[in-house]
Amino acid sequence: NAYLAAIEAANPAVNAYVAVTADKAQEMAKASDTRLAAGQAGALEGIPLGIKDLFATEGVHTQAASHILDGFKPRYESTVTANLWADGAVMLGKLNMDEFAMGSSNETSHYGAVVNPWRKTGSEEKLVPGGSSGGSAAAVAAQLCAGATATDTGGSIRQPAAFTGTVGIKPTYGRCSRWGTVAFASSLDQAGPIARDVRDAAILLKSMASVDVKDTTCVDRPVPDYEAAVGRSIKGLRIGIPKEYRVDNMPAEIEALWQQGIAWLQDAGAEIVEVSLPHTQYALPAYYIVAPAEASSNLARYDGVRYGLRESGKDITAMYENTRAAGFGREVQRRILIGTYVLSAGYYDAYYLKAQKIRTLIKRDFETVFHAGVDALLTPATPSAAFAIGDEEMKKDPVQMYLNDVFTVTVNMAGLPGIAVPAGLSAQGTPLGLQLIGRPFDEETLFATASVIE
Ligand code: GLN
Repeated sequence: NAYLAAIEAANPAVNAYVAVTADKAQEMAKASDTRLAAGQAGALEGIPLGIKDLFATEGVHTQAASHILDGFKPRYESTVTANLWADGAVMLGKLNMDEFAMGSSNETSHYGAVVNPWRKTGSEEKLVPGGSSGGSAAAVAAQLCAGATATDTGGSIRQPAAFTGTVGIKPTYGRCSRWGTVAFASSLDQAGPIARDVRDAAILLKSMASVDVKDTTCVDRPVPDYEAAVGRSIKGLRIGIPKEYRVDNMPAEIEALWQQGIAWLQDAGAEIVEVSLPHTQYALPAYYIVAPAEASSNLARYDGVRYGLRESGKDITAMYENTRAAGFGREVQRRILIGTYVLSAGYYDAYYLKAQKIRTLIKRDFETVFHAGVDALLTPATPSAAFAIGDEEMKKDPVQMYLNDVFTVTVNMAGLPGIAVPAGLSAQGTPLGLQLIGRPFDEETLFATASVIE
């Protein structure tokens, strides 16, 4: 009841929820009470959560914040949310996001921008919460849920977490099932939690993760007790500092934050080593080929026949065209055009195949560093703090927006786990985050190390 009241009071200003499932929340909470009374509490019994609009929720609004999915209510539940409900969690509603998870500011949503609950000191200017999981991050930061689900294809959990002073972890590719999560770029997409602190993130991930025969890329290995890793000593761990992440024009306060993070880890007994990931500079351009290529294939299913919106047309081709023109926003259309272009005969080898080769080189860079005995890497999470909604530079040139993902996309390209953890404030009083990158399936080291920083 307290969360539903908080949502009613604050959501008109924050715009984090696109659907509030008050009746369902009451019903689920009552069922929780019954289980608690019977001494059958699950790991998340009665905990109210917000769910990114990308997760299929049975009989409940699921539109990936897109007009083209108007009215879509799936007849099935995603594996990740089913796991949460099985542990006793309660659904408060569906959270705003960039349309089809394409964006870094939550401004591409059909439902309008999400407003970051944070402001610069002495300013009323509205800031973005980051994206694409901007609704998830803003809802957690404004305490409109106890925790949220999110997804990360190129940084969409970690960048919004950094912009809102929350904790977000993208686990290893294959740790959470993708079944029932609207697909963006299937080889990069992973679900994970956004939470108020490292311990909450660990508890949520334990519930979300599972093996699942319905997703053949889901990996069959036991889910560790992540919470036990929180607060574990990091004495003797070797933390790598990748020198290529010291990018040109990095703001002084981001560099200072990174140095502060290094000092904290040293104080806690970690050994700091400089490492090299030589193909880092190619990650962003390669990502913006691979992700749109996969998206153009995944989004072909929205044809006006199978789901949601249908516009009329004189024949079936005109119906497709009219539906897609009306149903997809500009950024989604741009991605589909880029994707079909780089996959087309004549350009495939020059762009898509090249990007795939670069992806392998990026993965090998990480393997080399981990093979040499490095346990985790420390980098900034983002190249800046949260920027203003409607930023002119970003509006003029989409590439400016893509540059936000410079520190996060490498992790998805290599399939590794990455966590963003709040580490300080910008000169203007807004949150800044650091990122830790781990070995495949070693989320525990990330939780242990992140709990030193937070
Ligand atoms: N900002 C990136 C993009 O627009 C990442 C999005 C994501 O991780 N879903 O593709």
